[in-house]
Amino acid sequence: MVKQLIQEDKTLYLCEACGAAYPEKEWAEKCQAWCEAHGGTCNIEIIAHSVPVEKAGEQG
Ligand SMILES: [Zn+2]
Repeated sequence: MVKQLIQEDKTLYLCEACGAAYPEKEWAEKCQAWCEAHGGTCNIEIIAHSVPVEKAGEQG
């Protein structure tokens, strides 16, 4: 199960295994499936769809 991250105007989906954020749940699920199967390595073709995100939960 991927983690949902609600931002001001959009929702991102986090791979809980590596923390990469994706605008599309489909890619987050692919990333998580990959990370869980290949512990510690990321698929460059999947990661390419991720977006930079400020660390969640560290404000205030
Ligand atoms: Zn991942």
